[in-house]
This record gives sequence, structure tokens and C-alpha cells, in this order.
Amino acid sequence: MSSTTISRLALATLGLGSLAATTAFGPPAKPTKPTPPQQGIGISLANIDQSVAPCEDFYHYANGTWLKNNPVPPAETRWGSFNELTNNNQAIEKRILEKAAADRSAKPGTNEQKVGDFYAAAMDSAAIEAAGLKYLQPRLNQIAGLKSLADIQKYMADPKSFGTGWYSFGVGQDSKNSTQYAVRMGQGGLGLGDRDYYLKDDGRSKGIRAAYRNYQIAIYQLLGDSPSLAATNADAVIALETKMAQASRSRVELRDRLKNYNKVPVAQAAKDYPNLNLPLVLKESGLSSAQDLIIGQPEYLAAVNTLMTNTPIADQQQYLRWHLVSGVTSALPKAYNDASFRFSQVLTGAKQQQPRWKRSLRATDGALGEAFGQLYVDEAFSPAAKARAKQMVENLRAAYAERIMATDWMSAATKKEAIQKLNAFAVKIGYPDKWKDYSKLKITRTSALQNIFATAEWANEDNLKKFGKPIDRGEWGMTPPTVNAYYNSSMNEIVFPAGILQPPFYDPKADDAVNYGGVGAVIGHEMTHGFDDQGRRSDAKGNLRDWWTKEDGEKFMAKAAMVGKQYSAFSPLDSVHVNGDLTMGENLADIGGLTIAYQAFQKTAQAKAGKQIDGFTPNQRFFLGYAQIWRSNQRPEALRQQIQTDPHSPGQYRTNGPLMNMPEFYQAFGCKDGTKMVRAEADRSRIW
Ligand SMILES: [Zn+2]
Repeated sequence: MSSTTISRLALATLGLGSLAATTAFGPPAKPTKPTPPQQGIGISLANIDQSVAPCEDFYHYANGTWLKNNPVPPAETRWGSFNELTNNNQAIEKRILEKAAADRSAKPGTNEQKVGDFYAAAMDSAAIEAAGLKYLQPRLNQIAGLKSLADIQKYMADPKSFGTGWYSFGVGQDSKNSTQYAVRMGQGGLGLGDRDYYLKDDGRSKGIRAAYRNYQIAIYQLLGDSPSLAATNADAVIALETKMAQASRSRVELRDRLKNYNKVPVAQAAKDYPNLNLPLVLKESGLSSAQDLIIGQPEYLAAVNTLMTNTPIADQQQYLRWHLVSGVTSALPKAYNDASFRFSQVLTGAKQQQPRWKRSLRATDGALGEAFGQLYVDEAFSPAAKARAKQMVENLRAAYAERIMATDWMSAATKKEAIQKLNAFAVKIGYPDKWKDYSKLKITRTSALQNIFATAEWANEDNLKKFGKPIDRGEWGMTPPTVNAYYNSSMNEIVFPAGILQPPFYDPKADDAVNYGGVGAVIGHEMTHGFDDQGRRSDAKGNLRDWWTKEDGEKFMAKAAMVGKQYSAFSPLDSVHVNGDLTMGENLADIGGLTIAYQAFQKTAQAKAGKQIDGFTPNQRFFLGYAQIWRSNQRPEALRQQIQTDPHSPGQYRTNGPLMNMPEFYQAFGCKDGTKMVRAEADRSRIW
């Protein structure tokens, strides 16, 4: 009952937002004229800031008023159209989960029972408080009992161990032989999530390290360590992680798909890294039949191999203890959760923690997303919406083929391969045809923590058991309500969850201009990932293979380097610059995606007719729709974190960056040479 009320309120708020749009409307050319009500759907005229010239800063022109009126809510770290849509989707999920949790008669072992019990247990803060460390203690005891390297190796090899750190390990597609699964290993296990936080000496990095140390000290004391022992333990873990960070590759280095592919025979790896006891690791994971390992970062495993012998066992115990506890604070008593949130505040600047229901919802979505995905889809995504999205993908694909054929820099031989790859893109829309089978996963209402352990174990098992089987091409990497999309290079597929095929990205009531500028650009973005600086390295079958002529490859890289230079010059905060190398693939996808969407839009009746809506031409509405998707306010802390760790550029550059390279945009808004949005011809990058 209460959930219905809340979600109605959320919808009403959105409704009020568009009503307000009518009152603030003013046609761009004659702002003093009385304001007629907004006619078009999908672009909010009230978001526009008429005091900014579209040719000087299109992002702030399209969104300026919205940005002024929509500060980041206290529990959020950024706020924009993605968050608003996520909120809408979560309102639907909340109804589903609360209904499932209220139903105590669901048959044991069914998805309904698991979803309801998982959410109910996560929501039950009293039970979590009362349980204290009851369900954690056996695992803490196990770690306390590790007395030798052999014990550590055994613990690391056990698929039931939680949050083991040290390195990443799992089964995935072999990117040079995409019809086979392979065992993959690589760097991992840093509590701070990025090596630069350990290695940089600027004020922010030092502050984050200090906060990380305080976080650990707080947790150790909650676990019963004396203040001095807690500090000693924190220092030992940070010292160890710093050595791991020194051996880790940067995020930019990790982007290179060839350098991060190193296939070695198991026997060789076992000899190279004897202290990891790889034969035991493989055996315990049921992977003894593996002949080869694909190692992402051999020098990292070499460093771990050394660290595992020259780090005192007591310090390794603290490391494993820390990674166990810090991974489950959400299901521990409030004091643990508070310590975790205090630390995250330093990274993101959030003023408040998200409400418990949102945290529990996200956890349930992460653990069992496909167990209630169908219920979300039933409510939010019709077969007609799926058919329309599919049609749009095909329109974009046709437009992309035209652009490839029309490029003046690519040879016929490379074009042929590119078209083959484009035609081979598999497309997934909305939700999986075949849902994950959770029958072996045991979830109860007794303990949120037990549920987390059970889910992690199930997911690990689900991953490991793929080895030796045919590739599961029906698998999804995102749950249906997710407001996101992806390209998977080994599958050569583009995937669009139902969660993003919603307003403002796709609105069946809006005109084509808005939808092509919205979800059209999203589709184009994912397609272009297949041809970005890393995606281009795999072929139609999803195999890493160089199908470019030498000359074409060089021309492409020169154009990409130009994009890198453009974005590295963007500076959202004093002394903070976008990292053009880290964001390269995403920037190329943004630029290419918008170009392709524009090309596809030109074929529509609306574009051909050229009729204005609310004083804007169809092409102007296309670019406005695109820009309004990217409106976003962000806390400075979160922005700095994004710049350092996120391959996506901030929203304002995802808008202006592509537009500054597009003469079609200059033309639509009559932007003249010398305005900020118009790059000199020699400085423009046009790939597609
Ligand atoms: Zn992307």
C-alpha cells in the first residue's frame, strides 16, 4: 500500500516537471513574446537556459535551467536523467519486491520465495543487529586458523571462500578463440579499487588513504581489536596493498586488449608462480582439465607470487580478514555499515546514505535480478516496445553501413571486413529469452549475510561450470531494469535492457527527432564500440584478429589520437582534466554513435518534412534531445573520482565533445566559425 503511494508521488513529481515546462517556455528567437504551451514531447523547454548561446556551450544552453534547479539530492553523488529513470524503474521494482516479501506462502525453492526472502532479510535491520557476528564468526575463525602458506593457498583455492582478493580468477570467453571458454586470471584485490589511490601523492589521494586507514581501524575495533592492534593491522594491510598496487597496471594500460592477453600452458604458469599453487586452485574449481590459462598481467602474478612468501602469514590473515568483512558490511550491524558509508563519503561526497530499501533493492537486483526480471518486464516493457527498438537498431545498422561505405579514408578491403562485422552484430533487446536458473541457490529469511555468501557461491559456481561447454550466447550481463547498455566484443553483440528503453531515452509519444537523439544515439554508441580503438581489434566472429590494412589502421589511430587530444583539454574542475586515453573508447563511441543516429534520423518522414515543433526544426530537436539526456549535476568529489576511474567523460563533454566535431550541428543552429562549438576544420575528427 505505502509503496503504491510513494511511486504515484514519484510519477506525479515528473508530471509537475513537465507542467512547469509550459510556464517557462520562451521561443529562442523572440524571448519577449507571450509563451504558448509546449507542444512537443520529450524535450523539456523549461530546461533550456536562454542566457547561454547554443553555439557557445550547447550543453549549458540545453540544460542550464535544469542544472540550476536540480541540485544533487543528499543521498546521491550525481543527479541527472539516468538517475531519474533509475528512480522510476526502482519504484516498479520496489512494488514487486515488497509484494514478494509480504507473501509468506510462496512455495519453498521457487523464485518468488527466494526474491521475497532475500529482500525481506536485507530489510530486516533488527534481525541483522540481533545476529551480530553470528554468521560471520565461522569464517573469521577459519582465517584466524591459517598458519602457513599451504593453509593460505588452500583458503584461496576454495571456491567457498569469500572476498579472497590477491588476484582475479574465473571462466570467460577466449578472446582469440571466441567459441571456447578459457580460464582467466589477472590483477585484482585492491581495497581502494584503483592503483593510483595508493601511488599518487596529491592531497586528495593522501586524504583517501587516510580515510581508508580510519575505516579499517574502525572495523577492526568493532571486531574486537584494541585500538593499537587495529592501527597495526590497518598499516599492514595498506602496506601489502600498496605493493600490489605498484605491481598493477593503470586503467589506461588495462584497456589494451592485446597486451592483456597472455595465453600460457597451465604447467608453465604453475612453474612461474609456484606459491599460488595453481594446480590446487584449478582442481578445487573443477578446472583440472584446463590446458592453458589466459593471464591478463603476468608481472602482477609474479609480484603476488613473491608477496605470498615474503609477507608474514599474520599480515596475510589481516588482508583476507579485511576483504571478507569489508565485502559484507551491508549485512552486518549498523556500526559496520556506518563505517563503510563514512569512508565512501570521502570518495563521493554523498551527504546521506541511500534509504535502506534502495540498498536492499540493489542487492536483490544484483543477486537475483533475473528471478524477478520478468515481473518488471511485464509491467514496464511491452512486445510493441521491443519491436520498435528492434526496428530502430536495424535502421541504425543500415545507416552505419552507409557511413562505412562513404568514408574516404578506408580501403575497400577494410570496408568489406567492417561491413561483415556490422552485419554480424547480435542484438539483444529488453530481457533474456532464457532466464538464469536459480534452482540450486538456497535463500532464506533468516540471515541477510548468509544470503550474500550463498549468492556469491552460486554465482561463482555458475561461472566455473561454463568451462568446457559451448558458449552461452543467450546470457545477459545486465538485469532488465538497468538503465544502461553494452557491447560485448567476444560475442560481437549489442545489448539494451528494458530499463533504458524508456523515456527520456525512448518515448513512444515523442517525435522521431527526440528518440533518435536519445536511444538512437545509445544504439549508435554501442555499435561504435565494435569499431572503437579496442573494439576494432576483434572481427565479425568476436576474435582478436587484425583485419585492417596497415595504412587504414594508422589512419584510424591518427583520427583517434586527435579525439584524445580534444578531450584531454576538457577541464571540468580547476586543475582536473579529462584523461583522453582512459576515455578514448567511450568518446569514440559517443562521436560515432551520434553521427550514425543523425544519419538514420535523416531518413525519417519528420526529418524530410522539416516542420518545426515549439520553434525548433527536426534537426535542432535531435540535438536538443541528445543534450538533454546528458544533463547531470555531480558532487565535486564524485566528479574527481569519475575522472580518475571511469572510462566515460562527464555529461557536459559527452554532449559538447561530439557536437564540436559535427558540421551537421553547426548547420542546425547556424553556428559560425569562431564560436566555441565550432572547431576549425583541421582540428575536427571525423571517423564515420
Ligand atoms: Zn560505452
